[in-house]
Amino acid sequence: MTQRKGTSLVVGGGMFGVTASRELQARGWQVTLVDPGPIPHPLAASTDISKIVRLAYGSDETYTELMEEAMETWREWNRGWPEPLFHETGVLMLTRSPMAPGSFEYESFRVLEERRRRPLRLTPADLRKRFPGWKAQSYVDGFFQSEGGYAESGRVVARLVELASAERVSVRPDVSVAGLLEEGNRVTGIQTSRGERLLADQIILAVGAWTSKLLPHLAGSLTPSAHPIYHFRPPSKRLYTQQLFPVFTADISATGWYGFPINRDGIVKISNHGTGHKLDPDIPRQAPADDETALRRFLDETFPTLAPVPIVEKRWCFYCDTRDEHFWIDRDPQREGLIVAAGDSGHAFKFAPVMGRLIADAVEDVPSPWRQKFRWRPDANPPRGEEEARHHG
Ligand SMILES: Cc1cc2nc3c(=O)[nH]c(=O)nc-3n(C[C@H](O)[C@H](O)[C@H](O)COP(=O)(O)OP(=O)(O)OC[C@H]3O[C@@H](n4cnc5c(N)ncnc54)[C@H](O)[C@@H]3O)c2cc1C
Repeated sequence: MTQRKGTSLVVGGGMFGVTASRELQARGWQVTLVDPGPIPHPLAASTDISKIVRLAYGSDETYTELMEEAMETWREWNRGWPEPLFHETGVLMLTRSPMAPGSFEYESFRVLEERRRRPLRLTPADLRKRFPGWKAQSYVDGFFQSEGGYAESGRVVARLVELASAERVSVRPDVSVAGLLEEGNRVTGIQTSRGERLLADQIILAVGAWTSKLLPHLAGSLTPSAHPIYHFRPPSKRLYTQQLFPVFTADISATGWYGFPINRDGIVKISNHGTGHKLDPDIPRQAPADDETALRRFLDETFPTLAPVPIVEKRWCFYCDTRDEHFWIDRDPQREGLIVAAGDSGHAFKFAPVMGRLIADAVEDVPSPWRQKFRWRPDANPPRGEEEARHHG
């Protein structure tokens, strides 16, 4: 019988919590995963039809390197799972002016070339020929990266939970955590909203946008932000298939806009990776109509045939933002037994294949090149976020 290392209680059944649970269980911890349920939880950031999986991270090669590893596992998961949930459509990254040094697209292209990932530079003529849904005169430069695409994120979480259960993680989709139990400077467990007390050697808090509700003293460092998602059901699918309409970013660091080809349910999804709105993650998720003005302008400029198509669904999805937009995966330096795994800042899902390892390394205090980047850092206060794809305007 495997010698158990101790007990771990993982709070939150999103991508962070589920991947952490599997990795800790594999390393010999006896893991319980709790969430108010059902998992995937309908309000979780991870529960969505699609998330971009891209290698491009501007000049920030640390993420590209981590993604190169994650990409291999996405493909491996596809081979081993009952159905592929990662769709390698390639990623189209276009700009409205020539790519210039320092810009997200230029630096991404440079890093990808240097790392021999062979991005393909495109002219408006290439765009017109290969991707006819685009208004080629609006986008003068950019590139196509054949690696990457999108993951069906809600389904991925569902699959990972199934695997976690099979691997003997105790999954409890009926537990809402109301607070932490503490003895001296040690966190010893959690109290549920029904008054139950669950004890464990290590508590891993992976509650995304809800982090500051459980740890109010971190509210200045881990902040929820709301971002709109729009679904369209185009009457004709032809222009939106993944060959003609792969995952794209449309001058993303200047506009925030990105989107996905038509999915298995006939939906084209468009979203905006911008500063978002400071809202409470427990508000109703229906996004207000006034947010549509910018979307309509973008569609007119970019996809003339999608512009008149009605929106069939729009809702808010919540990031858990850190000030520098890097993840926050570390032990609480003041309280033994507590690990916070959050701060996704709207770009973590693609790292699902390596996230369990990053979190388990923090739990076990294993040094790794990533520990420093994702460290506990309440004093960090950069002039602006450092996720280069994000629109900070
Ligand atoms: C609009 C949008 C678009 C995005 N696009 C991309 C993309 O294209 N590519 C990409 O890589 N990433 C993307 N992301 C980011 C990605 O979704 C997140 O990085 C990831 O899903 C975060 O996972 P998480 O586990 O931290 O949080 P969540 O998935 O939100 O999970 C948190 C869990 O905690 C639970 N919880 C909350 N409170 C409690 C409590 N008190 N007790 C117990 N459980 C609790 C919740 O029920 C939930 O299940 C996007 C995010 C959004 C919002």
